[in-house]
Amino acid sequence: MANTLDHSPVRDQTKHGAPRLDAVIVGAGFSGLYLAYRLRKLGLSVRVFEAGGDVGGTWYWNRYPGARCDIESLDYAFSFERELIDDWNWTERYAKQSDILAYLNHVADRFDLRRLITLDTRVTALTYDEGAETWTVATAAGVVASATYVIMATGCLSAARIPDFPGRDTFAGATYHTGNWPHGGVDFAGQRVAVIGTGSSGIQSIPIIAEAAAQLTVFQRTPNFVAPAWNHVLAEGAAAELRAQYPTRRDANRASFFGVDLPANPKNAVDCSPDEQQETLERYWAMGGLAMLACFADVIINAESNKIVADFVRAKIRAVVTDPEVAQRLTPTNHTYGTKRPPVGTDYYETYNRENVELIDVNATPIEAITPTGIRTSERDFAFDSIVYATGFDAMTGALLAVDIRGVDGQSLREKWAAGPRAYLGIACAGFPNLFLVTGPGSPSVLSNMVTSIEQHVDWITDAIAHARERGIARFEASRAAEDAWVEHVNVVAHYTLYPHTDSWYTGANIPGKPRIFMPYIGGVGAYREHCAKIAAKEYEGFVLTAPASVA
Ligand code: FAD
Ligand code: NAP
Repeated sequence: MANTLDHSPVRDQTKHGAPRLDAVIVGAGFSGLYLAYRLRKLGLSVRVFEAGGDVGGTWYWNRYPGARCDIESLDYAFSFERELIDDWNWTERYAKQSDILAYLNHVADRFDLRRLITLDTRVTALTYDEGAETWTVATAAGVVASATYVIMATGCLSAARIPDFPGRDTFAGATYHTGNWPHGGVDFAGQRVAVIGTGSSGIQSIPIIAEAAAQLTVFQRTPNFVAPAWNHVLAEGAAAELRAQYPTRRDANRASFFGVDLPANPKNAVDCSPDEQQETLERYWAMGGLAMLACFADVIINAESNKIVADFVRAKIRAVVTDPEVAQRLTPTNHTYGTKRPPVGTDYYETYNRENVELIDVNATPIEAITPTGIRTSERDFAFDSIVYATGFDAMTGALLAVDIRGVDGQSLREKWAAGPRAYLGIACAGFPNLFLVTGPGSPSVLSNMVTSIEQHVDWITDAIAHARERGIARFEASRAAEDAWVEHVNVVAHYTLYPHTDSWYTGANIPGKPRIFMPYIGGVGAYREHCAKIAAKEYEGFVLTAPASVA
């Protein structure tokens, strides 16, 4: 389904015969699609390169059983055009993967974006040419374009990761990763299946795999606090009623802490009586989804309050799981509530009451090897027909550092980020002019409804490019001082919270050898948005804007 470059308004060619463009966008998920829409509207020649066989990003790759959003469908969707909102009908409270993918395909078609997108094309290198003030864009096959601007819309959770277990490639059965699921689906009927990993992807897929498989064995390293989704079909007319609340609903999302207007309780848990605590917790549990994060104002900043919430969820686990030993194994004890992205599940704990489901704690009996017939732990040899890796991603930096990005003086981003990612506002890096990151490290990104955050970044980047073009600015680059100050600020704010103390992909702890830094910005989506707007209003304070070399 690869598109050609023919329709792009190419103005010129490089010495390699590749098109010379105003902007190259890497990735065609929510971010890349909206960027293509905005930058084309600005009159730029644009090309999107996408590694996958079609648009959709996360929702193109993650087709595992049970995959759906954890933000309500009506909020987990674009807001930039009223007609787009009105002509799409979400049918469930939390849309399933196939519906979100259909929606993103609809966006690509409705705005005629496909002609700007080259599919099945992985960008492997980006090199800044200081003389020409352009970026050269290359794939494994060679140079494919040069561009004044490059925008990385490569996703925070797009570099799927399978741990390097000894013997990993010797397994004779079928192997899957939730983040790269076969398009035709998988029939587990009659099979002995292993799932390794109990993050959000494992938690969504385990109940459904358990229903299909003859035997399911779950290998768990860290038990999670799973809140119920209480997903349901939206009653006839309900979606239209909710849509009528626009734009108020979206304005509230933009100003909110998490990018979605959760019903935030202004009270601290520690200030409430035990009765009030209990009543509040039951009320928020009944709301389902991510609402529990907002049940008290101090959940993520006060360990005592956090324990009140955590104990409540622990009691819920014990109430559902009939075998007390299994319940104990499923009970999180080594991290605070909410400091890993709280998974939202359907019948997750109930699944462990099934006869055909077994839970293995790999802390007690570690996985020693993947064998030709299955998995060997320190205690037992297991035989499987299929192994499902629900083992997550090299998050936030993985997709960016997979590309060999070289800026001023040939400095590589890999070197610059060797001790952890550094970016001003999570959008731009000193030494890498005219290169922008969507939802990069140092922005609220993964701590939020990402569509709200993506729209804010794309709008800000588009305005910055428009500003540069109107003023004949050739280089738009974060200053080192502004970048340092922002990275420091992100770190200071993080340490007001409980987040940095938990081993999670937010801190890079899931990847052996990855620098341990709390990567996203926990200052809140609304406050961050205001800050970015102020930076823009002050003629892009903290950025160095330079006229073309020939003019300077
Ligand atoms: P992506 O959707 O990840 O798209 C990036 C694209 O870039 C991919 O298609 C990838 O193939 C491409 N790419 C990467 N590197 C290259 C390269 N070098 N060359 C060419 N192409 C490249 N967030 C929420 O807010 N709510 C949710 O409910 C939610 N659910 C999620 C469920 C799952 C299973 C996962 C994995 C993530 C979920 N997220 C959720 C986060 C989700 O990633 C974002 O909400 C959003 O989809 C990100 O869009 P994006 O366009 O920025 O990145
Ligand atoms: P994840 O949260 O990183 O979970 C990976 C799981 O694999 C964890 O349980 C992890 O254990 C385990 N694991 C990793 N390496 C292991 C090893 N060597 N041995 C044993 N276990 C190992 O990844 P994910 O579940 O794919 O989710 C990633 C993010 O995507 C989520 O946090 C969320 O933001 C998003 N997502 C959202 C939804 C949704 O509800 N809409 C669904 C899926 C994903 P440890 O915890 O001990 O590292």
